[in-house]
Amino acid sequence: MLSDSSIENLINRNPKFDDITSSLQAIAKLPKAIDKETKKVIALARKFTDEEVKPHAIDLDRRMFEEPDYLPRDFVKKANEWGLYSRWLPKAVGGEGINLPSLTFFLEEVASVCLSMANLIGVHYLGVVSLSASFNMRLFKKICKETVAGYRNGKPCLISLAITEPGAGTDVEETELVDKGNIACHAEKVKDGYVLNGSKVFISNGHLSTWHIVIAYGDLKRPSESMVMLAVKTGAEGFSFGRQERKMGQKACPASELVFKDCFIPDEYVCIDADQMKHLSLSSREIAQRIVDHVLSPSRGGVGAFGAGVARGAYESALEFASETKVAGKLLINHEWAQCMLAEMCKNVMLARLSYIETNYANSLHGSFKQLLSKPAYFFNQYVPKLFLEKFFAPLLDHPSSTNQARKQNLEGQTVSEQQRTSGWASLSKFSATDLAVKNCHMALEMMGQAGLRHDRRVEKHFRDAKLLQIYEGTNQLNRLNVFKCFIGRSFPQAVVFDE
Ligand SMILES: Cc1cc2nc3c(=O)[nH]c(=O)nc-3n(C[C@H](O)[C@H](O)[C@H](O)COP(=O)(O)OP(=O)(O)OC[C@H]3O[C@@H](n4cnc5c(N)ncnc54)[C@H](O)[C@@H]3O)c2cc1C
Repeated sequence: MLSDSSIENLINRNPKFDDITSSLQAIAKLPKAIDKETKKVIALARKFTDEEVKPHAIDLDRRMFEEPDYLPRDFVKKANEWGLYSRWLPKAVGGEGINLPSLTFFLEEVASVCLSMANLIGVHYLGVVSLSASFNMRLFKKICKETVAGYRNGKPCLISLAITEPGAGTDVEETELVDKGNIACHAEKVKDGYVLNGSKVFISNGHLSTWHIVIAYGDLKRPSESMVMLAVKTGAEGFSFGRQERKMGQKACPASELVFKDCFIPDEYVCIDADQMKHLSLSSREIAQRIVDHVLSPSRGGVGAFGAGVARGAYESALEFASETKVAGKLLINHEWAQCMLAEMCKNVMLARLSYIETNYANSLHGSFKQLLSKPAYFFNQYVPKLFLEKFFAPLLDHPSSTNQARKQNLEGQTVSEQQRTSGWASLSKFSATDLAVKNCHMALEMMGQAGLRHDRRVEKHFRDAKLLQIYEGTNQLNRLNVFKCFIGRSFPQAVVFDE
């Protein structure tokens, strides 16, 4: 047998392509109990999908064509009753403390039937991870507790993320690009807070959310160095909703315009700004990039799960059609060409799923989930009663030292190699799973002939929904560039990414 050191030497021999997968390491390092918890989540997702998604998805999509401004509050209320907006929040703030990676499996299940409904749930957690990426523990606790209260009193309290501006989409997702973008959302520092002016567009769940995590800039000439993250509540003076986009797919999940006119945000609702960054040894630009990565690395994995779900939905529709339809005197499923197409589609589902699972592992070992999924933290969270955590642990989160400590560990503490693994895998999953989703929709339509075009067969809906996946959370082109930057370019000093 090889010794441990020779194994390490052989594995690290090729500096141009080192072992960038995390699954093998994860088997030993992550708590086994996560598997059992994840199975329970999948079972819950199947029950929820059977009872609340399948019976209504097609009717809701049809209704959106007739009433494009309709807001699916009934579905959100149902999801809230099932506890879906708070189950994945930590127990200390009143949630169920379920491990966050398991959410991706939940989203795959729902997306396999209706991507809009999956997004009506998933995008709330985009808001949650954005809030948590500032590592402002006091504000995280305050807003999450409102979501939990919303579960208990039946009034959903959702969170959205507002980063995209009318003149800047891709540019706001990379610190290297943001200074070249047409940035206009300005946060002016005044006594006791900020005055916010500008607008955000295409904000998922905007009209349905109570809180909006808004990224703005103190200096519009140097946005990369002046990022400010603010929590803005629906109803705040100077904040209003603009139009709801008329889009090709995911029709039931509103994409909203948020408008800020001299909107005052008190210091209490500043998630992070230059003043709070002073305690850290990194530059404000480096911190901004790390915050963006802590948002996008988990959320792009979530979009990978959406992709796997839609790829599966299209595959399952094609399989059902092939197993009941006769062509040239025999069932389609018995034609060799159809068998090859179904095998290809099945493979696409599996690969899409594997890509987001690997992203989960990367985030669990090296990124945003690292602290919570270390064995001591996980078991502490599992076995200490919720009441105890809420009563004795939660008050500690209000203390500035909790925030300082969390920022030191997560923003300063993450190494460049860890950052590249998490960000690289997230982008890889995002673009591959969503491309595979579109591919499976194409193949299903091809196999099903005119039946595939019928609304009630669901495939044309999957197709319209899937196309949008290639655009949000960074276009697939941007994500390819990020994979080059994280996995390939780092070994080639002569390679320039984003052409700074
Ligand atoms: C359904 C939907 C929901 C959304 N939800 C949200 C949300 O909740 N919150 C939020 O903040 N935003 C949201 N967005 C916005 C989304 O993140 C942006 O659409 C996305 O980042 C792309 O930006 P853009 O549309 O402005 O495209 P652009 O940036 O204008 O890009 C246009 C084209 O140029 C390419 N391109 C741009 N820059 C480069 C570059 N440097 N190098 C190479 N190619 C480049 C792109 O790949 C693309 O092909 C949502 C969008 C959609 C469609």
